[in-house]
Amino acid sequence: MSLFNELGINKRLCKAIAEMGWTEPTPIQLQSIPEGMAGKDMFGQAQTGTGKTGAYSIVAVGRTKSGSSTPTTLIMVPTRELAEQVSNEIRNLTKYTHHAVVSVYGGAPYSEQVKGLKAGCDVVVGTPGRIIDLCEKGYLHFDTVKELVLDEADRMLDMGFIDDMDKIIAMVPEHRQTLMFSATMSDEIRAVAERSMKDPIEVSVSHDSLVPELVKQYYVEVKRNGKMDVLRDIMANGNPKMVIFCSTKKMVDDLYEGMSKEGISIGAIHGDMPQNRRERTIRGFKANRMNILVATDVAARGLDIDNIECVVNYDAPLDPEAYTHRIGRTGRAGRTGVAFTFVTPREDRRIPSYEEYMDRTIERVSRKQIPKIQISNPELKAMHVEEESKHDSARKSKRVEVVAKHAVSKGNQRAPRDADLTVIALDIPKELGASRSDIVGYVMRSSGIGEDKIGRIGIGNVSTFVEVDASVASVTMKALNGTTFCGRKVRASIAPAKVRYKQKNKG
Ligand code: AMP
Repeated sequence: MSLFNELGINKRLCKAIAEMGWTEPTPIQLQSIPEGMAGKDMFGQAQTGTGKTGAYSIVAVGRTKSGSSTPTTLIMVPTRELAEQVSNEIRNLTKYTHHAVVSVYGGAPYSEQVKGLKAGCDVVVGTPGRIIDLCEKGYLHFDTVKELVLDEADRMLDMGFIDDMDKIIAMVPEHRQTLMFSATMSDEIRAVAERSMKDPIEVSVSHDSLVPELVKQYYVEVKRNGKMDVLRDIMANGNPKMVIFCSTKKMVDDLYEGMSKEGISIGAIHGDMPQNRRERTIRGFKANRMNILVATDVAARGLDIDNIECVVNYDAPLDPEAYTHRIGRTGRAGRTGVAFTFVTPREDRRIPSYEEYMDRTIERVSRKQIPKIQISNPELKAMHVEEESKHDSARKSKRVEVVAKHAVSKGNQRAPRDADLTVIALDIPKELGASRSDIVGYVMRSSGIGEDKIGRIGIGNVSTFVEVDASVASVTMKALNGTTFCGRKVRASIAPAKVRYKQKNKG
C-alpha cells in the first residue's frame, strides 16, 4: 500500500490528510503528486470523484509557504459551487500549514471577497470572470503567483471563459508551475495546454477505472419510438434515483415536459439553461426533492452525486468516452449501480465499441428481463414510498394530474413561477455571436443582480431576451440601459407579454 508520506509531502500536510480520513492516495494522486512536487507542469485527464482536487492542492500548498500578502497559488474553476468545494478542501488540507484561502466568484457581493484579499492570502480559488474583475479593480495581484491551476478546463471552455482564461494566463508570471485538469480531451483543450504549459507530463486515470466495479451494465434493443415504454418499465422497477442521458437538448426538453405532465418529479439540465438554473436543479436532485434528472452530456459534467442508482442512456452516445463518463455517475462510494443503454437497430454496433474501450462486458436484456433495481439508501427508500403513493393518487384523477402535478415538479426545482418573471429585451442580435453565458455574465456585471435572479436567455435575430426575477426587473432594466456590450451601446426595455409567452413555450 502506498502512503501519502512516501510521496514527498511535508509532515504537517500529512497530518491534516490523515485527519481528513484519507489513508492512501487515489490513483491520480499517486501519479501526479511526486512529479508535481518536483515542479513539473502537468496535464491531468480526470473527472470529479477521482481525487483530482486533492492531487493539485497538495502539490500547490506543498510547494508554497503560507503567510504571503498576495496569492502564491491561483486556481481557476468554472463555477462558484466548485470554488467553494475546492476552498473547503484546501482549508482542511492546510489546517497545520495555515495557508489562507479566499474564494472569489460572480453573483456574490464584492465586499466579503475584497476583505479576504486585503487581509492577505496565499491561495485564491475563483471563476475567471470575477478573478479578472478583481484584478482590474486593483484588489487582486498576480505578481507572486507560483502555482497556477486550471480545474475542469473543459467545462470552463464550454461556458465561454476562454478569453478570460487566456487573459489570466498571460498576466501570471511566466516562471511558475501550471497544473491543468480536464475530464475530457479535445483539440481546444490541447491548445490551451500548449499555450499555458512547458513540457507537461500527462497523467490520467485508466478507462476501466472510470467505470466503478459495482456498475452492472445492460443494453436493451428498442425501436426508436419504443424507448419511452422501456423507460417506464425501468422506472416502475423499484423507482430508482436515476439520471437519463439524451443526445440533444430538444430530447431533454421533450422528456421533461412529457414526464412533468404525467406528474413525475423530474429535473432537466442542458447547455441552453442558465447555469444558476442548472445548479438549482442539481441541488434539488442531490437533496432528493426529485429522483429523476434528464440531462445532456455537457450539462452533466462534474455531476458529483454519490447515490445515483441508475443511469439510462436514452440515446446511445457515439463516443465510448461519453459512455464511460455517463455510467460512471452511478456505482460510486461503494454503492451498487445499474446502467441501461437503449440501442435502436442501427445503433447496436456501438455496444462493442464501449466494451472494447472499457474492457468490460455489457449484458443484453429484453424488455421483459429488466432486472429489479436494488435500492440501498434508506432515505431514498422512504422517499420512493412517498413517490409511489403520490403516483397512485394522481392516477386516480386525470384532471389533477395535468394541472397540479406539473406544479409539483416545478415546485421541486424551486424554479420561479412565470408570474414571478419578467422578460427584458436587449438590442443584442444573434449576429454578435454572444453565448448565453456571455449574456448572463454581462447582465450580472452591469446590473449587480445575482445569478439566482436570472432565468432563461433567448438570443434572437434582432434582440436578446433575458428572464429576470420580477422583483428586480425594473432596476435591472435601468442599470442595463446605456451600458456597452461588445463595443455597442445597449438599449434595454421590458418585453411585451407576447414575447414572454413565446419564451415560455420555447422551454
Ligand atoms: P474530487 O475528485 O477532487 O472531486 O474528490 C472526490 C472526493 O474524494 C472528495 O470528497 C475528496 O475529499 C475525496 N478524496 C480525495 N482524495 C481522497 C483520498 N486519498 N482518500 C479518500 N478520499 C479522498
